[in-house]
Amino acid sequence: MAKWLRLLGFDTVFENECDAGQFLDHLKPGVVLLTRTEKIRNTFSASQRLIFIESNDTGEQLQQVIDELEIEKKDIRPFSRCLMCNVENEIIEKERIYGQVPDYVWENNTVFQSCPECKKIYWPGSHIERSLERIDKIFT
Ligand SMILES: [Zn+2]
Repeated sequence: MAKWLRLLGFDTVFENECDAGQFLDHLKPGVVLLTRTEKIRNTFSASQRLIFIESNDTGEQLQQVIDELEIEKKDIRPFSRCLMCNVENEIIEKERIYGQVPDYVWENNTVFQSCPECKKIYWPGSHIERSLERIDKIFT
């Protein structure tokens, strides 16, 4: 689910990307903590908001978060953030990435974004269209 949240453009940190026990210390003010761990739920006493995730299903989890935070479709910025690094992608000039993506991708797309951290290049491909269909379903 964290990847989906990133895909929608939300600043998302995985617990398993931090050292054990330090995760709560890394949280910035104003964040919402999503957890499936009873221990965290019971020890959590800060003023930050916590959502206890109930479902095993990614779609239902995402639905719960969107409902509880009252996120609307206009709030999301799909594919604005690197799924691996959680940093905002930058628009990159098409000419600069020639040879770095398959030729047919380069020829058939005009908008490319790249991650300033890992340099991964993103473009509106078919996987994005499928994801957008799924996003549409969540917001209907
Ligand atoms: Zn990246």
